[in-house]
Amino acid sequence: AKQNGRNNYRFFTSEIQSRSARILSLENALRYAHTRGELSLHYQPQISLSDGKIVGVEALIRWNHPDFGMISPVEFIPIAEESGQILLIGEWVMRTAATRMKQWMDMGFPAMSVAVNLSAVQFHHAHLSKLVSTIIDEVKLPPWFLEIELTESAAAQNPLHAIETMNELSEKGIRLSIDDFGTGYSSLSYLKRFKVYKLKIDQSFIRDIGIDPEDREIVKIIIALGKSLGLKTIAEGVETKEQLDFLKENGCDEAQGYYFSEPLNVTDIEALLRAPEII
Ligand code: C2E
Ligand code: CA
Ligand code: CA
Ligand code: CA
Repeated sequence: AKQNGRNNYRFFTSEIQSRSARILSLENALRYAHTRGELSLHYQPQISLSDGKIVGVEALIRWNHPDFGMISPVEFIPIAEESGQILLIGEWVMRTAATRMKQWMDMGFPAMSVAVNLSAVQFHHAHLSKLVSTIIDEVKLPPWFLEIELTESAAAQNPLHAIETMNELSEKGIRLSIDDFGTGYSSLSYLKRFKVYKLKIDQSFIRDIGIDPEDREIVKIIIALGKSLGLKTIAEGVETKEQLDFLKENGCDEAQGYYFSEPLNVTDIEALLRAPEII
């Protein structure tokens, strides 16, 4: 048993060592990723359930590492947050997404919003609202076309600062969307104090709509909450017709998910925006 224990121990240390070697190496490579053009944004359409039109896109970051290939944001965003690199990367994301949307408007695509994901680290950084308005001015994008997606837990980390930042952003006309809504631990009272525009129903509630009566109730309650507070609701992770029908029946405003389209690179999303009837 002792022998075994020791082997296990050795096994775990070497696994931990190689894991942290990967983290270190990614952290190092991440420093150059955006200047070397390894980062890109993919765009996933958001569909209005009343008329089936594309009313927005969510920008989702991708990293094509020269040796490791495609690395998921689920892996590298936490590394970037830990090392502080998220500030530069996040700024790159915002500028790139806003520039792209302005370009699409100039190309004559119908007006739509672009949503970017913001990490808690960015949100609690002192000059976020200043940075956002600098980018908006620089790009000349009307502010209401930019949406910021933030999780409840990110806002809950420092509620006073969060309220201040959210109010600054909304005064500038930028819209705020609560991401992964329903999964956080924060109280609902912040919906009253924060200037929120949209609730994004987490995909974990959408997934089992067809089989789990509790999930159905939760989704209905979030939609009703949105209606009574005057907030838009969007469901993420919609993959089936059954899920879509349920959302429509219950008055959800918008949906996003593989049922309509996965996140697409610029060439593919532009093709989709030119021929939206294929959705
Ligand atoms: P999220 O913001 O909750 O984004 C939704 C995730 O679900 C995305 O994964 C998207 O590709 C995926 N998805 C979309 N439709 C479906 C569907 O129908 N079914 C399923 N199963 N999944 C679907 P992705 O792109 O891998 O991003 C993962 C997470 O990484 C995001 O979760 C977000 O928290 C973070 N992230 C992505 N881009 C950025 C960014 O630019 N900045 C920051 N700070 N975080 C980002
Ligand atoms: Ca999101
Ligand atoms: Ca989510
Ligand atoms: Ca998330």
